[in-house]
Amino acid sequence: MHGSDVLVVGSPGEHVGEEADALVTTNPEVALMVRTADCAPMALAAAEGVIGVTHGGWRGLLGGVVESTCTAMRRLGASRIELALGPSIRPCCYCFSSDDLDSVAEVLGESVRSHDRHGRPALDLPAAVAAAVARAGAELTFADPRCTGCAEVDGTPSFWSHRVRQDAERQAVVAWLN
Ligand SMILES: [Zn+2]
Repeated sequence: MHGSDVLVVGSPGEHVGEEADALVTTNPEVALMVRTADCAPMALAAAEGVIGVTHGGWRGLLGGVVESTCTAMRRLGASRIELALGPSIRPCCYCFSSDDLDSVAEVLGESVRSHDRHGRPALDLPAAVAAAVARAGAELTFADPRCTGCAEVDGTPSFWSHRVRQDAERQAVVAWLN
């Protein structure tokens, strides 16, 4: 799924098995999770006791997934929303067609344009997230610098990557209130 459907989880287990692009809750008994391979995993929180998780590839970001998540959180009482971005694919591994790059830049600005390790046009997905977060009126307070495509420790990949290695496994971002 790469759209902008948001579900409010009122109690543990509610909506299990349903598909969505973002989950929000005010219930401390609920843990929220989304799974990602290369797209951007995001955890959101507001001091009023509202949290959310979402993910975004370039289509989801263009579709307003960050804005939708923030809107759902504000309906639950959030004012200032902070967002943490986990590891995602980075320009080094994200060669992108010029046409698609133009579409993203038109909406999210020129900062999304970059180059991959071979000098080809590439999308800077974290920059696209930063732009989407600014548009949503939220604050990006953390961004993991690692690339899911090429980060490694002692020659072993640190993350699953669908795009680079066709891995079937996924990362998970989990958030809960405490
Ligand atoms: Zn990379």
